[in-house]
Amino acid sequence: MRVNILGSAAAEGIPALFCSCPVCRAARENGGRDIRRRTAYLWDDDIMIDLGPDLFFAQVTWNLDYTKLRHLLITHSHEDHFYPVSLHYRASGFSVLPQASWLTIHGSARIGRMLEDAFAQSLDQCFMDFSEVAVGRRIELDQQRCAVPIRAAHMPDELCFNYILQEGDHKILIGNDSGWWAEETWDLLSEHRLDVAILDCTYGKHNYREGHMGAEAVIDARDELLKRGIIGESSRVIANHFTHNGGLTHEGLVAMLSPAGIEVGYDGMEIEI
Ligand SMILES: [Zn+2]
Ligand SMILES: [Zn+2]
Ligand SMILES: [Zn+2]
Repeated sequence: MRVNILGSAAAEGIPALFCSCPVCRAARENGGRDIRRRTAYLWDDDIMIDLGPDLFFAQVTWNLDYTKLRHLLITHSHEDHFYPVSLHYRASGFSVLPQASWLTIHGSARIGRMLEDAFAQSLDQCFMDFSEVAVGRRIELDQQRCAVPIRAAHMPDELCFNYILQEGDHKILIGNDSGWWAEETWDLLSEHRLDVAILDCTYGKHNYREGHMGAEAVIDARDELLKRGIIGESSRVIANHFTHNGGLTHEGLVAMLSPAGIEVGYDGMEIEI
């Protein structure tokens, strides 16, 4: 099972366009892992999790071929995760799509309404359809792969998802923009055994749990996952989705998280199990 991190930042990216904070200054100076695109993931070549504004940037950096995309799993409506304007370029006149290049977008009812607003009746002219997902209900992607949405505690007025990706016996949790999960989400997670848990570390050195998490909460979440048997000692835990306002460069994040055995995500990280 292979998942690539295409982006590891929160809304503004790092360095943020107009920012002179120490983290953004360090990113401009250091480059490398301190440069962070908006968070998204690619599962094999054909399933993408979230569709942010850095789609083009990721394509040209890693020579990706989006004509292979068949499924898009959307976590929530914030524009760093769902930027539907890009999808208009699937229409004829903008792109020559290969035969059978159909794309199914999975998300909440709100994502469905946003697509309706953006595309009116023309979804099928862009060779796309929409499928509404529900907490705990398996999304069958193909014969080998499925995903289970769980509820993220990210926004009180929107149903936001994290996704458990499953291929054969392997499971990877995409857990950014989670906040500290509600008890029913912990219960649902307890039915699973994860090989890899990717957790929301938006606020870095700040101790934060509401809507997003910081490094301390990530360590606590890892402990809770272990306690409940959702991960084992050999499971990998990876922090991801960082804002410059968290006050830590990649090196600073590693210094804080690696003593706890937690890896720090970066753009281009390949997770293979
Ligand atoms: Zn976000
Ligand atoms: Zn900054
Ligand atoms: Zn968000």
